[in-house]
Amino acid sequence: MLRKLVLFDIDGTLLRMSSINRQILIDALREIYGTEGSAGTHDFSGRMDGSIIYEVLGHSGLEERQIAEKFDAVKQSYIRRFCRQTRLEDVTLMAGVRELLDALALRSDLLLGLLTGNFEASGRHKLKLPGIDHYFPFGAFADDAFHRNDLPPVAVERALRITGKKFSGKDIVIIGDTVHDITCARALQAHSIAVATGNVPMDELRENTPGCLFENLTRTQSVIHSILNP
Ligand SMILES: [Mg+2]
Repeated sequence: MLRKLVLFDIDGTLLRMSSINRQILIDALREIYGTEGSAGTHDFSGRMDGSIIYEVLGHSGLEERQIAEKFDAVKQSYIRRFCRQTRLEDVTLMAGVRELLDALALRSDLLLGLLTGNFEASGRHKLKLPGIDHYFPFGAFADDAFHRNDLPPVAVERALRITGKKFSGKDIVIIGDTVHDITCARALQAHSIAVATGNVPMDELRENTPGCLFENLTRTQSVIHSILNP
């Protein structure tokens, strides 16, 4: 019987991308808007691809209306470039991830999904390169919302459509590497598992009181225990 909905963040949690990611966004912004705004220095971690585009272009003086007019064009340019230019060697899987996903996939009481600030097409491509896309039958993505806190309800709704089960409270587990992941879990009173494999140090994650905190995802059985016992 299904007991838990387990939602994984991508960047900093499952894997790390090379700097090509930032360069591709810069190239797409220059092509469509003629400026990259603050994309060269902006902190992307834990943020949504859509809102990143608005934030970095806001620094170039473009108004929201001007950004919105070409938003679809820049999104398509970014995705097209991303899928064409990134290679397996641009992706570093975090330690323990493959073993953890293998172990979780064997369990019939868990439903795995994605909860990520990536657009679906580029996010899926990131996972396909190292061959871990198939673990995630569905997800909530930057295409679905501008704010991360709006993603968990989307994931819950999709899980309901797939399984017929309405997950709530601590039966929803959100695994991520930033304070944003912890906060969006709290918005639904879900269980959060923070992992310090991204840019946020252990201490800073701890201050934001996640349900559970790991240095990395190598302790497979401890992570599973935390998922089942929030
Ligand atoms: Mg992340």
